[in-house]
Amino acid sequence: MELTAEELAENLALVQEKVKQAAERAGRDEKDVMLLPVSKTKPVEDMRVLMEKGIHAFGENYVQEIREKYETLGDSVEWHMIGHLQRNKVKYIIDKVAMIHSVDTIELAEQIEKEAVKHGTQMDVLMEVNIAAEETKWGFTADEAMTAAAKIGELPHVHLKGLMTSAPITEDPETNRKYFAALRELAGKIGDQHFDNVSMDTLSMGMTQDYETAIEEGATIVRVGTAIFGKRDYHQ
Ligand SMILES: *Cc1c(COP(=O)(O)O)cnc(C)c1O
Repeated sequence: MELTAEELAENLALVQEKVKQAAERAGRDEKDVMLLPVSKTKPVEDMRVLMEKGIHAFGENYVQEIREKYETLGDSVEWHMIGHLQRNKVKYIIDKVAMIHSVDTIELAEQIEKEAVKHGTQMDVLMEVNIAAEETKWGFTADEAMTAAAKIGELPHVHLKGLMTSAPITEDPETNRKYFAALRELAGKIGDQHFDNVSMDTLSMGMTQDYETAIEEGATIVRVGTAIFGKRDYHQ
């Protein structure tokens, strides 16, 4: 464990306080904002410290890591897949995760449908939108999102609950405010269409660098890793 249990608990409390204050600033109920700690590359022991503090849901990026951690923690936590997901790996997580935030193609949604049927389950998903149109990022463009939502809505075992984005890397969260606002507006437009099997109540946006701004702009899930768990080492 890189951080001590005390440090982890302190970090969590600090982030929770900032979440609360950002919600207050925006005139929102803090209960409408879910803090999703992102535990990728971090050990199960760190997750347990947070579980003792009342956290029951975690974001993870890698299928293999979910499978390994699931061996230990099983369904005692709610797993959220937030990383890019290859179609051929859906089968490994379909019976483990509560939500897939990172649906970035229709083909992936169709694969989730297929595996959900096979496992006799349903899956809540978000559409990942590359809202800043960055060349390096996964996700639907804002222009593709409407048509994609209609198509995903046709899949009976896949329930589209909203949108997710990762805003550009920045030192100044204010520069991302317009992207968070744009994602909220896009969700509003899609929601107005009342597609079958589609709701747009969930906005997964904001990370360590910008979660307070994201909350001010309507985030219902903020995905925070570094501010809670400390820096990640990808070379272990
Ligand atoms: C790693 C990751 C996060 C958390 O990032 P931090 O900057 O450590 O808070 C959030 N969302 C996604 C999609 C990620 O991959």
